[in-house]
Amino acid sequence: MTAIMPTTSPWTVIVKNPARLTVTPNLLDYDGGCASFRWDDERRTLDGLGGGRVNIAHEAVDRHAAGARSAHDALRFVGRDGTVRGVTFAELSDATGRFASVLRVLDVGRGERVFSLLGRVPALYTAALGTLKHGAVFCPLFSAFGPEPVRQRLELGGGKVLVTTRALYLKRIAHQRSDLPELRHVILIDSAGRPEPGTLDFETLMRHAAPYGSAAATRPEDMALLHFTSGTTGRPKGAVHVHDAVTAHSATGRYALDLHPEDVYWCTADPGWVTGTSYGIIAPLLHGVTTIVDEEEMDPERWYRILAEQHVTVWYTAPTALRMLMKAGAERAKLHDLSALRLVASVGEPLNPEVVVWGQEALGLPIHDNWWQTETGGIMIANFASMDIRPGSMGRPLPGIEAAIVARDEDAQPVIRDGEVELVVDPGVVGELALRPGWPSMFRGYLNEEERYRKCFVGGWYLTGDLARKDADGYYWFVGRGDDVIKSSGHLIGPFEVESSLMEHPAVAEVGVIGVPDDVAGEVVKAFVELKPGFEASDVLNRELIGFARKRLGTAVAPRRIEFVAALPRTRSGKILRRLLKARELGLPEGDTSTLEAGR
Ligand code: AMP
Repeated sequence: MTAIMPTTSPWTVIVKNPARLTVTPNLLDYDGGCASFRWDDERRTLDGLGGGRVNIAHEAVDRHAAGARSAHDALRFVGRDGTVRGVTFAELSDATGRFASVLRVLDVGRGERVFSLLGRVPALYTAALGTLKHGAVFCPLFSAFGPEPVRQRLELGGGKVLVTTRALYLKRIAHQRSDLPELRHVILIDSAGRPEPGTLDFETLMRHAAPYGSAAATRPEDMALLHFTSGTTGRPKGAVHVHDAVTAHSATGRYALDLHPEDVYWCTADPGWVTGTSYGIIAPLLHGVTTIVDEEEMDPERWYRILAEQHVTVWYTAPTALRMLMKAGAERAKLHDLSALRLVASVGEPLNPEVVVWGQEALGLPIHDNWWQTETGGIMIANFASMDIRPGSMGRPLPGIEAAIVARDEDAQPVIRDGEVELVVDPGVVGELALRPGWPSMFRGYLNEEERYRKCFVGGWYLTGDLARKDADGYYWFVGRGDDVIKSSGHLIGPFEVESSLMEHPAVAEVGVIGVPDDVAGEVVKAFVELKPGFEASDVLNRELIGFARKRLGTAVAPRRIEFVAALPRTRSGKILRRLLKARELGLPEGDTSTLEAGR
């Protein structure tokens, strides 16, 4: 791949003047900060548990509960009705200890998996941190997932415990409980003392639980978190993260999010997404700051009110949400006092330069884009608080992170010369974004899929699957995915998962799924369907198929649009060419079609 892109942005660089910043940024001098950074120094800012042991929950909660911040609000919940409830570090330590005791009583062992299927409710934080405290592994799921993705992930992850709500249990799990023999306990957070058959009541368990004592003395390399992510083909992958990831959560909270102890921080990520754990739970607590948690979904008026009334200083959100705010109009923002806000960061999808500039106009601050993925466990590339922003760029690598652009050949494979991966040196040349392994939050495997994990590393680099370019000043620019995976409203969606589900409908012969551009969601899922003989394309069947997919996959994953086609483009070996479907949909050149099956 040798495409050359312009190395300058058509947008004016937003120059940050450190003297004008309300708080001195933690990373004032980028080059100096990177040169002197050592992961071991960052480890020394943490407590540890003696003997080289470390536990994320101890660092995030108990350390502060035992110190000067014990009465400081760790979390501040904004309920659906707007009521606000603070939970101090001391209270969070007690609650998470109780949950850890519950797991002990339920005979959940170290390293066993505890899943959550919850929205942003207090029990989520108790369960996540209590699980880590006990030395078990926490695995969050999206509550918007339908029964199929939920079952598949519980099965692949060998879930022993699931914490969820009564409604979600009845809708997603109850009917397929017998398909999940490993799932020993389902804990319902809202069954008010009357759990469904085969489930346990969270409140009752917590009331009777004894204090736990200190967190389990886990080793740095013990598994702590399991996050499922999607690939182009095959089953979802369970990315394994270890307790030492806390070192990276701490460093990135300090440098990319610029957290200072008196900050009021708000991360709007869904709890099912890796961001919801790394930066919705762990990183802010490590820095002892107060985290706002809003139970409700996105609503412009509500969000501006929360920013203003809670005096949010650091806000971590996502492009889809920002585009929705932008659509609602900059004047809506101006009706609120957002003067406490000092840093707005965004992640998860490409952030249009227009949105960065809109931030400046509507919020009085540009949006600081940053980049990472489930596998990296933490932010890898960022626009730092002190740094000039080039709208459209993801920024520069974090201290301790070595990034590069790897050259790709015509078959989209990394170019290897004399056993070495060839790195792109010329500014603006597109290749695959790669990272030098060794940072603490790097995934340590895909659960039970050694081969799939191994393939991510070539010639001493971790290949991210994203295409990017670097400019002459070391800023990275996102170009696109190197595979067919779809990003819709921040959700990473594997086309194969959607195709497999639609294939179960009796009318469907073949299906190809792609992402098509959408103004707000970035991309939405579109399925091209070839019908079986005897079935006629119609609006009724179109709606039926969308409903069928929604019921199984959930609204976040199911296709938004379906188009019936007489024949899908396939290679001679029968593989559906999603790349060609996409090119045709977007009116782009079809590229090399030499492997195309005749007549397609
Ligand atoms: P996930 O593992 O679900 O967090 O998705 C990670 C993927 O989201 C990355 O590999 C990128 O394709 C995309 N992504 C994350 N952050 C950004 C960003 N700042 N700009 C563009 N794409 C991003």
